[in-house]
Amino acid sequence: MKINKNYDNLVPSYLFAEIAARTNAYIKANPDKRVIKLGIGDVTLPLAPVVIDALKKGADELGVKETFKGYPEYEGYDFAREAVAGYYQRNGVTVAPDEIFISDGAKSDTGNIGDIFGADNVVMVTDPVYPVYVDSNIMAGRKIVYASCTRENGFLAMPDDHVQADIIYLCSPNNPTGAAYNADQLKAWVDYANKNDAIILYDAAYEAFITDDCPRSIFAIDGARTCAIEFCSLSKTAGFTGTRCGYTVIPKELVRDGHNIHDLWYRREATKFNGVSYPVQCAAAAVFSDEGLAQIRESLNYYKENARIIASALDELGIYYTGGKNSPYIWLECPNGMGSWEFFDYLLRNAQVVGTPGEGFGKCGEGYFRLTSFGDRDNTIEAVERIKNLLK
Ligand code: PLP
Repeated sequence: MKINKNYDNLVPSYLFAEIAARTNAYIKANPDKRVIKLGIGDVTLPLAPVVIDALKKGADELGVKETFKGYPEYEGYDFAREAVAGYYQRNGVTVAPDEIFISDGAKSDTGNIGDIFGADNVVMVTDPVYPVYVDSNIMAGRKIVYASCTRENGFLAMPDDHVQADIIYLCSPNNPTGAAYNADQLKAWVDYANKNDAIILYDAAYEAFITDDCPRSIFAIDGARTCAIEFCSLSKTAGFTGTRCGYTVIPKELVRDGHNIHDLWYRREATKFNGVSYPVQCAAAAVFSDEGLAQIRESLNYYKENARIIASALDELGIYYTGGKNSPYIWLECPNGMGSWEFFDYLLRNAQVVGTPGEGFGKCGEGYFRLTSFGDRDNTIEAVERIKNLLK
């Protein structure tokens, strides 16, 4: 037998292991020092009360013969898809419930969507990038081209008519840079995709953090329905990182290479996915109720305030950064020309603060650093004070 040799082309990911190793070594050598972690990409606040009630109610129903449920529909229960469609409508975007697939999260679907595309497509990702887009396409043997994000373009790469790409991953607000595309910028990508017969795979996992008028969905842009698929997640929106639920939207009119993309994805899901559990779909629907949206807003505001605290310290220090406003991530230029890992060590040794070196997300991340707002408020305030004292 033969393995999929494309796996040999994966670059080992040492980023989080290396961060943990350096942090643990420091803590061991300096047991009297209190280290604060602002590198964490996972949420820390508990699920909202309406979500817990819905989970319990869903579980109780499974214990009663009359309300017991077996396999769910592959694409999700109608009530969950209608709740998601209602959420889009509140944000001014119309998508039909039957264009929505309830998923177990955006990682699975952004990683698996390639199943329906040929291996000879050219994939474009931005650099820096959420690594799933890269690794899943290396596994499939596709050629990847990188669109550089730099200080010059505000870490928002724009389409280049000289570069041919068939599949384009965009993530806005972005992980790791926190930068978010405005409507004009997204329109340029949509026009590029329609003109070049490409597909945009739009990851909106952080849409709930948008506070200004940046679009919260690619489908807010004219023309997107004929060129885009959108992935979203309740992980950061509602603290579902451990509960697992997301959704993928494929407009019915999206056609490429003579095939209806929605139908292809349905076929793929029917073959390889048996759906999301009933209590979790109940919980997801509860998030999008009036009460649910009010309750998740509290947690989102907590993280947003942390982000504002970090960003305003960088403003005071005169350090260039993106994010922090429409995003839980703050992406800063390492001071004094330091490299990403150099700054990591400097911050750990002198302020006992841990962040994420930007080069772990791609070449263009060298010299940059990611801080996150998912931590505890008091720790965020203390970390920021330490950073200010160190860098002022
Ligand atoms: N997409 C982006 C850009 C992310 O940063 C993450 C998680 O960090 C995900 C997707 C994964 O989301 P989920 O928990 O829904 O799988």
